[in-house]
Amino acid sequence: MRTLPHELVRCARALVGGETRHDYAFVVRDGRIEDAGDYAPVAERNPRLSARSFPADRLIVPGFINGHSHAYQILLRGWADDWTFAKWRSDALYRVVPQLTPDDIYWTFIAAFSEMLSAGITTVAEFFYLNGKGNAHAEAALRAAEETGIRLVFARAWMDADYAPPQFRESIDVAQARTLELMHAYPWANVCVAPHSLHAASLEMIRAAADFARVYDCTMHVHAAEASYEGRATLEAHGATPIDLLDRLDALDDRTIAIHAIYITEEEKRLLAERGARVIHNPMTNQYLGDGICDVSQLQALGVPMGLGTDADVKPSLIDEMRAASLLQKIARTDGSALGARAAFDLGTAQGARALRIDAGDLTAGNAADFLALDASAIDPWTPEVNGVVYRGQDSWVQAAFVGGARVYTGEPSPLARLAQQKLKEISQRVIP
Ligand SMILES: [Zn+2]
Repeated sequence: MRTLPHELVRCARALVGGETRHDYAFVVRDGRIEDAGDYAPVAERNPRLSARSFPADRLIVPGFINGHSHAYQILLRGWADDWTFAKWRSDALYRVVPQLTPDDIYWTFIAAFSEMLSAGITTVAEFFYLNGKGNAHAEAALRAAEETGIRLVFARAWMDADYAPPQFRESIDVAQARTLELMHAYPWANVCVAPHSLHAASLEMIRAAADFARVYDCTMHVHAAEASYEGRATLEAHGATPIDLLDRLDALDDRTIAIHAIYITEEEKRLLAERGARVIHNPMTNQYLGDGICDVSQLQALGVPMGLGTDADVKPSLIDEMRAASLLQKIARTDGSALGARAAFDLGTAQGARALRIDAGDLTAGNAADFLALDASAIDPWTPEVNGVVYRGQDSWVQAAFVGGARVYTGEPSPLARLAQQKLKEISQRVIP
């Protein structure tokens, strides 16, 4: 267990709500930001506190929020690139996952979470579907999060449809019981429920998952409308397109986190907004798999809370996702003013946290003390810092990452991360065809 500091953090330069602040300070206590503002009054209100100071060549920003990930998929990258989605799923994903042992999962997740921290990702919503034989696999992933220090939102998947690989299928009762078990055993892990999708979970299971979320006060993550065939399939089978269908199942409310939401109608966009549902956009993966472009601009205009995810984790980088989110909207609308740097930064930080229903994503009182020290020397003096990060930022700018005020990344790979790299070599030789 890391010791949680009680200290005052003084920043010569910080990004707060996307805006540059000079000589900004915040007080960290019990893992949260207790007080924040201009240095002088904060220091006056909090005398005798030990201080940690960052000079002007360091830009202090909130830790990035990764709203959707399948961390084990780092094992698929490289050798399964440039395939169609169907081939990638059948010849890479479904070939590798049945072979993974809890130990393989532990080391793969150590590697993936360490990589995320080195890219400034301090929270990850891990959509975990490698279940089926109990919670041993899930617990390996949870242990990896705890040991790397990344903040976790553990979206425990449920699957029961024929479409899902047999080893992942569970009955509703079993999935419910195992999810509850994890919730009780890992109270720090924000365990929530995740019926996989409208094709891999039955309608009864999705309905049960939505009930579960209401009863146990958690969110419900669900893949929806990533590809155009899904809408055709649900329309044919159930007479409704995916978001509309979720609504008819009483599974669309402010606990619903729809992953992707690319192929949706104007009416479904309004429905998402009316129900208070959230959307996670995965622009790098959507490009990598040739999915399509989510209408972020319109969803934002309607007030749908949204975040960004690294999904297939080919290169888990929230800076890349922020940049891609912005550039894709400009292309989709052929409008250079669409989704600017500040809006993209908000998706990757404060709004992303709101979408996941966690208090994080900004350097203001009440939020988790999750922050990064970026090497800001490459930002031109005439460039607003937020633009510098989104359009020119590199993961290598991350010099340190703090979660709950504790430093979990120091600018170079930890001994554990190095060991995981060695283990991955062995695992890959065994599981990659
Ligand atoms: Zn996904």
